[in-house]
Amino acid sequence: PEAITVAELANRMAEKAADLVKSLFKMGMMVTVNQTIDQDTAELLVTEFGHNIQRVSESDVDLDTTTDVDAEETLQPRPPVVTIMGHVDHGKTSLLDALRGTDVVRGEAGGITQHMGAYQIKTKGGELVTFLDTPGHAAFTQMRMRGANVTDIVVLVVAADDGIMPQTVEAINHTRAAGVPMIVAINKIDKHEANPQKVRERLLEHEVVVEAMSGEVQDVEVSAKTGAGLDELIEKILLQAELMELKANPDREAEATVIEAKLDKGKGPLATVLVNRGTLKVGDILVVGTESGRVRAMLDDKGRQVKAAPPSMPVEVLGIGGVPMAGDRLSVVDSEQRAREVSSYRQEQATAKRTATAPTSLDTMFSALA
Ligand code: GDP
Ligand code: MG
Repeated sequence: PEAITVAELANRMAEKAADLVKSLFKMGMMVTVNQTIDQDTAELLVTEFGHNIQRVSESDVDLDTTTDVDAEETLQPRPPVVTIMGHVDHGKTSLLDALRGTDVVRGEAGGITQHMGAYQIKTKGGELVTFLDTPGHAAFTQMRMRGANVTDIVVLVVAADDGIMPQTVEAINHTRAAGVPMIVAINKIDKHEANPQKVRERLLEHEVVVEAMSGEVQDVEVSAKTGAGLDELIEKILLQAELMELKANPDREAEATVIEAKLDKGKGPLATVLVNRGTLKVGDILVVGTESGRVRAMLDDKGRQVKAAPPSMPVEVLGIGGVPMAGDRLSVVDSEQRAREVSSYRQEQATAKRTATAPTSLDTMFSALA
């Protein structure tokens, strides 16, 4: 149900709030200027005052992305966004490091340090793959709870010597709940106690039927230590991505999701964002969560300055007024006035939500999950 305060409606109609309150009183409603009225009542008032009806909805004030769908002909293929999940010590970090090492841009020299929670590799075939470097189910679940479904594909890492463990099952459940396709990477096959076949069999108990067991879930044997199977894993990711026909419109104002954010002493608020659609550019005016700002500079995952970030590219953004939260949506708007309008509206909403639902806030639920 969409609602608006009497004051805000008066403001939009360029009428005195007190006159609206009077009218409402005549209609049998005792309402103060700061109280909200529903859409039907608002429309009635608008007509009453002889104005044209213009639906007063949240999307007028906020940025509604759900109704604003890009036309099919504007869509272009975009790289897949991959999250690696699995039980502790099964090799998530090692695998992320090893995959980063396959990046042809980084080349043989290597040594470029990672400075943000996501990176993109260019494969030998020239395709791009984005990895979210936030292993951990809590991060994945938190993002999802905040409505930020940025992951296209989950790579489930299972150590071939250790097998299915509690967090493996948890990861399977989270992935299933998110409706995200999974690729099973059976890791540590270099170890002599490795038993990949046992992993495949045990996965059946959790209704994960891998290809080697005549199922549909792709599986691949890898070693983050020796690099065995990494090319095959990347191939399977690309194959899965192709099946999904991942696309986005690159030629529009950008929308992105915050992966992580922090306050840097020298640079101010820094946010690593993943572009969902459109192209984020230096100079863009933006709203992110309850913050607003203008893109002063952008850095890629190699720490290089970039002028533009197309869909699925992770970048670090400088120039935001405050530190946003992971999972916050970033939208580019056409003016600073609009940015302020949206961010202050969101601040009001956030305050209202906090006071209304203090003890059952999402934060409490997050900490319960972490
Ligand atoms: P995470 O907790 O899932 O991030 O696991 P890590 O990447 O930290 O790895 C846990 C341990 O397993 C570390 O000591 C790694 O060196 C080791 N490890 C990871 N992958 C492999 C592998 O493919 N082979 C072997 N032999 N050890 C591995
Ligand atoms: Mg780790």
